Amino acid sequence: MRAAVIGSGVGGMAIAIRMAVKGYKVTVFEQSSRVGGKLNELRMNGFRFDTGPSLFTMPDLVDELFGIAGNEGTDLFSYQKLENVTRYFYPDGKVLNSWADPNRFAQEAETILGEPAVNIQKYLSECSDLYRLTSKMFIFSPFPTWEGFKSKEAQELGKNIKKLKAFETMHKVNSRSFSKAQTVQLFNRFATYNGSNPYKAPGTLTIIPHLEHNVGAYFPERGMYSIAEAMQELAIKLGVKFELNCLVQRIDYKNNKVIGIMANGASEPFDIVVNNTDIFNAYPKLMPEHKLSWFYKRQKPSSSALIFYWGVKGEYSSLDLHNILFSADYPGEFKILEGKGISTDPTVYIFISSKMVKQDAPKGHENWFVMVNAPADSGQDWDEITKTTRTNILKKIKKETGIDIEPSLVCEDILTPPLIEHKTGSYRGALYGISSNNKFAAFSRHPNRSKNIDGLYFTGGSVHPGGGIPLCLASAKIVDNYIKPI
Ligand SMILES: Cc1cc2nc3c(=O)[nH]c(=O)nc-3n(C[C@H](O)[C@H](O)[C@H](O)COP(=O)(O)OP(=O)(O)OC[C@H]3O[C@@H](n4cnc5c(N)ncnc54)[C@H](O)[C@@H]3O)c2cc1C
Repeated sequence: MRAAVIGSGVGGMAIAIRMAVKGYKVTVFEQSSRVGGKLNELRMNGFRFDTGPSLFTMPDLVDELFGIAGNEGTDLFSYQKLENVTRYFYPDGKVLNSWADPNRFAQEAETILGEPAVNIQKYLSECSDLYRLTSKMFIFSPFPTWEGFKSKEAQELGKNIKKLKAFETMHKVNSRSFSKAQTVQLFNRFATYNGSNPYKAPGTLTIIPHLEHNVGAYFPERGMYSIAEAMQELAIKLGVKFELNCLVQRIDYKNNKVIGIMANGASEPFDIVVNNTDIFNAYPKLMPEHKLSWFYKRQKPSSSALIFYWGVKGEYSSLDLHNILFSADYPGEFKILEGKGISTDPTVYIFISSKMVKQDAPKGHENWFVMVNAPADSGQDWDEITKTTRTNILKKIKKETGIDIEPSLVCEDILTPPLIEHKTGSYRGALYGISSNNKFAAFSRHPNRSKNIDGLYFTGGSVHPGGGIPLCLASAKIVDNYIKPI
């Protein structure tokens, strides 16, 4: 039995590994010269940058993948737990470390923000309950089905419907949980972990802080891109073939059954095809006779990002691996994003992998990944937005950290929403597929198996259960459950 995977993103490589373990002859087709999709890297002037994901949560899902491959999977990938997840800088000069130990973090919030520690402890315990209540049904099961609604988990959910917090926004939940606006802002930020707006997204998204604060945040020993490298190495060991620089042009089917694909102008027969490319592009480009249903089409893309990769001279001890410089007006920032722009005072995220991986920057230098949330591309003037935002970011870094970084810049590269689409095929440059800005979003993602074409499956951030490395890995697991071993 032969299986094709279109796209070598996290979801694509995970399903390739899973199918190879089941005995399929698997080929991964990737348009780019390197695997990984959004999980990728950039090397320039002696610096190495992870260009996409920087925060690594739920590493057990990667471990599981290496585990099912038996001996082949050992020693390919290692990571460590972070002691301090993020360093937060507030416009009024406060600096807060979100320690991995929830009690230490709660104590820090009490000391720095004046937020009673008990509020944080209670909140994180509720986030944990919510995860226990929802994860099996909404993350690790196929697209919610009628059978699913009759399950034991659904019955328990039904009895605890208020705990789901689906009928109030994340901001509302956070506002009634905390006494200080700065704590609310900190926890509102988790909506952006799947490209959503905390003033619109349902309170159910408060499961996200559970992953970071109760389970923990981790970092691979060799940086984020080593996740993709290790997955590719494992896949090759299991016999998976990679066709790089190979654009898939069509999915072929006959009598509603997959028969193969066409790539780089040549047709090849396959029994199973798993699409790992963004479905909003896959339908019109790879199977134009099958229209994406209006139900999925009307969903709004998640937010995108504008990122500056800066090689900088000097080492800055006031910054950690992950740093957030908050804006003074968080609601205003999201209003501007909704209006398809970027605030003049945006929240700035600075990720410096060389704090952990010394070889990511030359001696006496650091590699700064500086990111702000951006709207999905709708034809804005990105040259102008990039120029203005760059100036605003430099000003903000100077004001909130005291570091005047501009004179120390050694090299620079920039990633905009249109470039994200160009490089990874992500529709309008969205980072996480569709946004979760309404309470029905969990029910609105494209399923992992085609209803119309036998043998066609979908994995990755644009389909159920959603974007981010852990959810993409979960989507591959769901597809794996559909596919019979040989
Ligand atoms: C800047 C940024 C920051 C992020 N931060 C985080 C984070 O901190 N933590 C986290 O967990 N997640 C983060 N994410 C999200 C995460 O990166 C994605 O959800 C995940 O990597 C998507 O994986 P995927 O399986 O959907 O495949 P993708 O990464 O979308 O890859 C799809 C692949 O398909 C290929 N392709 C497309 N069309 C074709 C075709 N016709 N033929 C052949 N190949 C094709 C593309 O080249 C690409 O390699 C971030 C994303 C970005 C961009």
